[in-house]
Amino acid sequence: MDLKLYDTLTREKQPFVPLDPSRVRMYVCGPTVYDFAHIGNARPVIVFDVLFRLLRHLYGADKVTYVRNITDVDDKINARAAERGTSIRDLTEETYRNFKEDVSALGCLPPTVEPRATEHIDEMKTLIERLVASGNAYVADEHVLFSVPSMKNYGELSKRPLDEMIAGARVDVAPYKRDPMDFVLWKPSNRGDPSWKSPSDIRTPGRPGWHIECSAMSWKHLGETFDIHGGGIDLVFPHHENEIAQSCCAFHTDRMASTWMHNGFLQVEGEKMSKSLGNFVTIREVLADWPGDVARLAMLSSHYRQPINWTLKGLEEAEKALASFFDAASGGADPTPAPAVLEALADDLNTPKAIAEMHSLKNAVGRKALAGTLGFFGFRRAELAAWRERHAPQPALPAADIESRIAARNAARKDKNFAESDRIRDELAAMGIVLKDSKDGTTWEVAR
Ligand code: AMP
Ligand code: ZN
Repeated sequence: MDLKLYDTLTREKQPFVPLDPSRVRMYVCGPTVYDFAHIGNARPVIVFDVLFRLLRHLYGADKVTYVRNITDVDDKINARAAERGTSIRDLTEETYRNFKEDVSALGCLPPTVEPRATEHIDEMKTLIERLVASGNAYVADEHVLFSVPSMKNYGELSKRPLDEMIAGARVDVAPYKRDPMDFVLWKPSNRGDPSWKSPSDIRTPGRPGWHIECSAMSWKHLGETFDIHGGGIDLVFPHHENEIAQSCCAFHTDRMASTWMHNGFLQVEGEKMSKSLGNFVTIREVLADWPGDVARLAMLSSHYRQPINWTLKGLEEAEKALASFFDAASGGADPTPAPAVLEALADDLNTPKAIAEMHSLKNAVGRKALAGTLGFFGFRRAELAAWRERHAPQPALPAADIESRIAARNAARKDKNFAESDRIRDELAAMGIVLKDSKDGTTWEVAR
């Protein structure tokens, strides 16, 4: 099976060839832990979970290393901790715990490593000192800045003209910068901010910039170059552009990762999600109403590179689809995707196609392959069944009334008065109550 992935750097779908097939390496930028994750944050988690499962299937479960970092040092974290009157450590611990609970309830596998930025300060300082030594960074006013003009390929990932990059980065043209595009690798800490001994003989303690974190953590856990680097499309510029600049200059390589992958953005009911519009949805809120697997299937119903419109209707449809898969599937404890599903996923993670293929397996011939496919995705039958039971629609009539009408219908049938027995059945059907006759008698259920 040939895996093809779209690479943002070359803007092409390419055959995926791991640098070392016995150690396939993927890094995905993780959350900044200061608040509950929103449903937009769930998108990269879900998309790259499918890729992780696929790589494990293709190369072997023990041959794939998936690193997703935790950003636990950031100005938003400092501000939120101060606002709440809690320590930074307590805030990041609690938020990280909640995040782990959320993504596990969604049904995503834990990554192989979840490194925290604050545990990699030494690696960041090592990189910073290398960059200063190689002339790619300089110290100014207790900051260390990356010198963008020192890197000739800067801007290759986002391919934006320089003036657009300046506007996009919303860089403050600080007086200590040699070039307005130069970005911070290290900065002094204000009173109360977390701080560490600074690199490069800077006397005052300081803290790292955001971009250097990911260069340090990917280096530590995956090496100087690795196979796949992912995240949301908003990270292409400046975050990933700057990661490339730092890593390639520090290691004298021309590629940080072979494949750059970015998921499209999520909107809620057709609008940009924002607190001010009142349509901000946390993963936790979605999980209060829906099984995690339903949310995951709804997310996968759009191709990862397209924007996705998150709607109630989409969730309702995903719930029906998942229930229909479990109704049709049987046997096949082996969690292997059906060949047509595998083919769709191997074509740049075409999950809408994969889901369509699952629908066409809902027959006697396909039921075993469908069971294997559900196992591959890790969809959980018991969770959906329990949810369905809690959300069983209520009948329009009291059960005793339904039972007495069934008795009247049985009496009519015994008298061969089929006009009357059909009338009773149709009347119940019009109220959404469906009768099922078998040799053991007649049962009823409410249509969904
Ligand atoms: P953040 O915590 O904001 O750094 O985001 C964590 C991850 O979620 C990054 O990969 C972002 O690109 C991604 N992300 C944030 N908002 C959205 C959204 N509305 N749709 C899709 N991905 C998002
Ligand atoms: Zn990152």
